[in-house]
Amino acid sequence: MSFKNVMHLQYWFYSMKNLIFLMASLTISLVSTNLYAQHSAESIELAKTIPIADVHMHTYYRGGPSSSAFLEQMDKNNVRWGGAVGDYRADVADKLKERYIPAIGQMEFMEVFFSRGASGLLDDENWTFKRLFKNSEEQFANGSVKGFGELHTDNHSSGPLNIRRTIRTDSPVVRKMYAIANKYNGFVQIHSQQDENFTTDILKLAADFPNSITVLSHCLPASQPRDIANLFSQRKNIVCEMSATGSAHNKILGINRPARAFDDNGLRPAWRNLIETYPDQIMVGTDACCGWFNSYSDMVAEIRNNLLPYLSAELMEKIAYKNAVRIFKLKE
Ligand SMILES: [Zn+2]
Repeated sequence: MSFKNVMHLQYWFYSMKNLIFLMASLTISLVSTNLYAQHSAESIELAKTIPIADVHMHTYYRGGPSSSAFLEQMDKNNVRWGGAVGDYRADVADKLKERYIPAIGQMEFMEVFFSRGASGLLDDENWTFKRLFKNSEEQFANGSVKGFGELHTDNHSSGPLNIRRTIRTDSPVVRKMYAIANKYNGFVQIHSQQDENFTTDILKLAADFPNSITVLSHCLPASQPRDIANLFSQRKNIVCEMSATGSAHNKILGINRPARAFDDNGLRPAWRNLIETYPDQIMVGTDACCGWFNSYSDMVAEIRNNLLPYLSAELMEKIAYKNAVRIFKLKE
């Protein structure tokens, strides 16, 4: 064997060693990626049966499902509690009793928007809002409502087309709602997209009204987990709910875009990381809005199949209902 051949052989061994090392590392990283998305048989089973608090369950006043339909769907899907967005419905409150999370103000916000436009939403002298402030004070005081919402402040590229708009979240009307919620340790559920204005506004409102809880609908549509982490790390009284972050809504709308947080492949690592870092600030919701109540079971099913099994039992309980029980003072 010539010197040249020995060198070749050495080089070959060297390359093989590297290749084996590379393959071993690749296998390890594949295994760990797999582990990341892994869910145990126990967690799959637990996710099927764990009680759920649906904190984005719309109970529309006009054309919404009957109170019996809500009860039936909730029982069928083991959704123990539901609501936290509008409209406030007395018949649903009667039917669901302590399982209802009553919220007020969405109907009034819509009414003023359709009659006065986006600028009308800034006018706290508007008689519809004045009536709302008065009624809500009474309802908070007698315990028949627990919060305001869903208030769309900046939904310029998210949600139904006919209600798109941009107003500052820290505006006179929203600020009055916060003042009332603050007085009764209530919540304000806001649907807004994230930008610098919103970040400034929500941090200020949460600081000025420390007894209020801000619930961010859809965990801030179109934003990244780091945007949410930025708010969570600064304010403990800001939380979010994960409705419409799976693929069910995209499928209904026929939109071919990847789900934000979870789909048939499981929960995305960045979202799992967010949940693990802020385990007390995230909840689940369906948002079967817009005439989609017949997809309610599908929306709950994707939470049970594609989101919850990827969390430890302790985290799963918090996200599925325990955070909601604490935040909305629900009876277990
Ligand atoms: Zn909604």
